[in-house]
Amino acid sequence: MRITAAVAREKERPFSVEELELEGPRAGEVLVRVVATGMCHTDLICRDQWYPVPLPCVLGHEGAGVVEEVGEGVTKVEPGDRVVLTFASCGKCATCLRGRPSYCLNFFALNFGGARLDGSSPISADGASVHGHFFGQSSFATHALATERNVVKVPEEAPLEILGPLGCGVQTGAGAVLNTLHPEAGSSIVVFGTGAVGLSAVMAARIAGCTTIVGVDIKPGRLELARELGATHVVNGSETDAVKAVKEITGGGADFSLETTAVPAVLRQAIDALGPLGTCGVIGAARLGTEASFDMNDVLVPGKTIRGIVEGDSVPDVFIPHLVELHAQGRFPVDRLVRFYDLEDINEAARDAEEGEAVKPVLHTSRG
Ligand SMILES: [Zn+2]
Ligand SMILES: [Zn+2]
Repeated sequence: MRITAAVAREKERPFSVEELELEGPRAGEVLVRVVATGMCHTDLICRDQWYPVPLPCVLGHEGAGVVEEVGEGVTKVEPGDRVVLTFASCGKCATCLRGRPSYCLNFFALNFGGARLDGSSPISADGASVHGHFFGQSSFATHALATERNVVKVPEEAPLEILGPLGCGVQTGAGAVLNTLHPEAGSSIVVFGTGAVGLSAVMAARIAGCTTIVGVDIKPGRLELARELGATHVVNGSETDAVKAVKEITGGGADFSLETTAVPAVLRQAIDALGPLGTCGVIGAARLGTEASFDMNDVLVPGKTIRGIVEGDSVPDVFIPHLVELHAQGRFPVDRLVRFYDLEDINEAARDAEEGEAVKPVLHTSRG
């Protein structure tokens, strides 16, 4: 079928919006009309080749839409179902079988390979293959071909146009708090970087009952939003020594910290700002090969933990419906993060995201 999609054709160059051809679903695949799709930091670093995703490629991995057609053997969803698209996992490796799909042994190939595992791509332009299947979806498009494993059914009345980001950035931040760190009520947490991932963590920390929630950023507008969404304190890292400020606020150091910026010096602060037995979650995706340092004795003696967390340790079929319900109850106002753009304006959305003008751009891809 003919689709309209945004293609990343060259490193660090704008996306081009084009008419392309998309195959119908093979066995186990699900064709989705994409209603809206979020733009995540990962899309931009793949366009810019921090991660070696083959180009040209249709990126986009926070789609939400309506199932149009299912391939042979698919029983989880049927045409007409409303779905959020999330990351792909194989379902067969040891970590998938242990219920930890975001650490799937095939994670890189399935999500960043630009093709199905057999090497084929469902997308082409005038007969020439274009890489697709990015995160098992390639949702910067009017239609996406997903798989049964990475579609999550949501209720009929759920507001599809804001739910796509639950499939990646939002579950990354919220899941790090609710699935991984499990802060007890009354504990303290500091979130470094109050973009979409960090603000999702702030909202989750409030749900978990943290009574001290510190947001650290260098953009005053984002700090203001962090306060509105649940931060009890905010620190502007460009004006203040963030570690010193957090130690003062928490009376010696935070129980938990999250690093969402991928800046090595900020990771150092996130570790240094912890108190005894504190845990630092590492979430920000840096350029491959990036190294960071910490004081070994400052980790050893206070018994600190440093933990990498992918996709918020989410089991999407369980966790995304939880977030949808929390939103419906008004306890997780993810709509506050979103700014809408048309698919044709994707380069404006990317610029606004990079400049921090938009916390979470969402592209309207198809109407109706
Ligand atoms: Zn797997
Ligand atoms: Zn993402």
